[in-house]
Amino acid sequence: LVRNVRDFCKRNGLLTLSVVAVITGCTLGFMLRGTQLSSQAKIYFSFPGELLMRMLKMLILPLITSSLMSGLSSMESKACCRMGVLTVTYYLWTTFIAVVVGIVLVIIIKPGVGTEMDSNRLGGGPVMTSADALLDLIRNMVPSNLIEATFQQYKTDLIPILKVPTRTITPNFVYVIPDDSDPNGRTVYLELTPPPEVMYKTSPGSSQQMNVLGIVIFSATMGLLLGRMGERGAPLVNVCQCINECVMKIINAAVWYFPFGIIFLVAGKILDMQDPSTLGRKLGWYGITVLAGLFVHGLILLPLFYFILTRKNPFSYIRGLLQAMVIALATSSSSATLPITMKCLLENCHVDRQIARFVLPVGATINMDGTALYEAVAAIFIAQVNDYELDFGQLVTISITATAASIGAAGIPQAGLVTMVIVLTSVGLPPDDITLIVAIDWILDRFRTMINVLGDALAAGIIGHLCRKDFPLSGTGKVKKNFCQ
Ligand code: ASP
Repeated sequence: LVRNVRDFCKRNGLLTLSVVAVITGCTLGFMLRGTQLSSQAKIYFSFPGELLMRMLKMLILPLITSSLMSGLSSMESKACCRMGVLTVTYYLWTTFIAVVVGIVLVIIIKPGVGTEMDSNRLGGGPVMTSADALLDLIRNMVPSNLIEATFQQYKTDLIPILKVPTRTITPNFVYVIPDDSDPNGRTVYLELTPPPEVMYKTSPGSSQQMNVLGIVIFSATMGLLLGRMGERGAPLVNVCQCINECVMKIINAAVWYFPFGIIFLVAGKILDMQDPSTLGRKLGWYGITVLAGLFVHGLILLPLFYFILTRKNPFSYIRGLLQAMVIALATSSSSATLPITMKCLLENCHVDRQIARFVLPVGATINMDGTALYEAVAAIFIAQVNDYELDFGQLVTISITATAASIGAAGIPQAGLVTMVIVLTSVGLPPDDITLIVAIDWILDRFRTMINVLGDALAAGIIGHLCRKDFPLSGTGKVKKNFCQ
């Protein structure tokens, strides 16, 4: 066994270094947690990790646009249409299955049952409806300004409005506190009887993250049209192909920096970690439920689908993806991991280039099985904590909204926590209760990102196999022995 492990490590040096880096980062982070580093020292300490994230993010835009434009331009429209329909159907189906797995487990394990909470808190939160979220999803598909889409995503903001009955504005106490950030500003706190009702108004706003969905839709359309333009479109297709090759070369060089960056990325995160909330043991069970669901979905069901649909060994395919999964664990971002997933699929799993160039960017944007599963578990956990009985109709609502919320979530750290507001409000749970699970979200996020990445990569193998007549080079199923060099 020792010799086998040694051989494996020798053949897969980069993967071994990355795993060692994750372990070193965790150890270093926990050791330094007791040392009360100043926030300035933490910034310096996390700098190599920050650099790693910046490198990966830098590659997302050129990789997505060049992959989709060059990939789709060289496909026949019938083949393209078949692949597109299969991909989207498969993604929706597996996401829904993930949600069902989560719901079944959280109902069996009941992690939140038995906690005393004030049930008056129910129903008072923001009223951003599922319809608002759906509209935002569609808005993001059609970015009004492409340049803006590279750094901004459309997201409806919730603006609080205090509803105070006019005759009772006689405050018991007034606190006036100067605002540090604005020398002329003051924050006024009024204590009123009865307490005012807080309503929320939705207002179209935007958040500072790349609108990957809009960029995917635009690049896919351009790719399809370039293919129809024949000779006239060829120069632009060539440019995209060159950019794509260059990006892959940059990735090949940058991967050797990754183990070093991972140490500081992971250690920096552990230094910033919040202490678990008062829920303690319940929160532990909640974490175990999410991890069990991710395990069942990612390592049993998805490989089973892969085997049934392709008749190939899913685990030798997954072996070729280990490097991408370690990067997903370290970065918590499926978009940032995209360059490495692409590299693993092309070099280790031998998936057809055209398939990988379409299925992966689309998957990194809309296919998040891990996130959907976690959103369903978290919503039902919050209901259990509040002693709130969910009927069958509400469970169906949770499964639909969790699927939609995962599609709307960006592939960035903890995006799922934000879109969970949609799931909670859809069944009348207080969105503020997200704070109950926030303490362990950073760690769960890493594992769900791994499953998100795994789901996209297995999908590429399956679609490649199902479309093998249209793409004869796809899915040879051979995995390189030294797959992570
Ligand atoms: N971090 C996840 C991803 O990038 C999204 C989430 O669940 O928060 O895939």
